[in-house]
Amino acid sequence: CAIEMNDFLALTVKQNKIHAEAKRQELTFEPYEKPVIIHADRDRLGQVVNNIVTNAMKYSLEQASIKIYITEDETYYKISVKDTGMGIAREDLPRIFERFYRVDKARSRAMGGTGLGLAIAKEIMEGHGGRLSAESEYGKGTTMTMWFPKKFTTQPYTEV
Ligand code: ATP
Ligand code: MG
Repeated sequence: CAIEMNDFLALTVKQNKIHAEAKRQELTFEPYEKPVIIHADRDRLGQVVNNIVTNAMKYSLEQASIKIYITEDETYYKISVKDTGMGIAREDLPRIFERFYRVDKARSRAMGGTGLGLAIAKEIMEGHGGRLSAESEYGKGTTMTMWFPKKFTTQPYTEV
């Protein structure tokens, strides 16, 4: 179904605010200058966004800032979640999308979780004709970006 992402992300922030406040983290969404309509399964989209936002809070200490924002290029709408958390070392970064892969095994076990979140998120994004990418600097923070192709999302039936 058609989902307007400014509304969707504002609601995501509202629903996660209590968890952010519990860690004194600042969770914000900067609305985009115009409506952003994508065609996706609402529950699956929620799974992707929630895992990424939850990760940003979970792998950041108190006082961290987590910013959600939308950008676009000719082909894609891009939704990014940028945190000022622990970051991911260069050698681990390509592996975080693998099933059950967790960077610091002991620490991650203490934090709870399965290591499946990003593997599932990536599958869902690819199932919607999109992709999921990560940029990170160890000790500084991480930016996860969801890519939604405009052609697919704005004209889902005209080309098939
Ligand atoms: P689950 O999501 O299944 O509860 P999880 O959060 O450990 O468990 P993923 O969401 O797949 O699993 O993430 C895989 C690993 O990538 C995490 O264990 C963590 O080491 C690393 N990671 C993910 N997001 C971040 C982030 N924003 N900052 C730092 N490390 C991250
Ligand atoms: Mg996770």
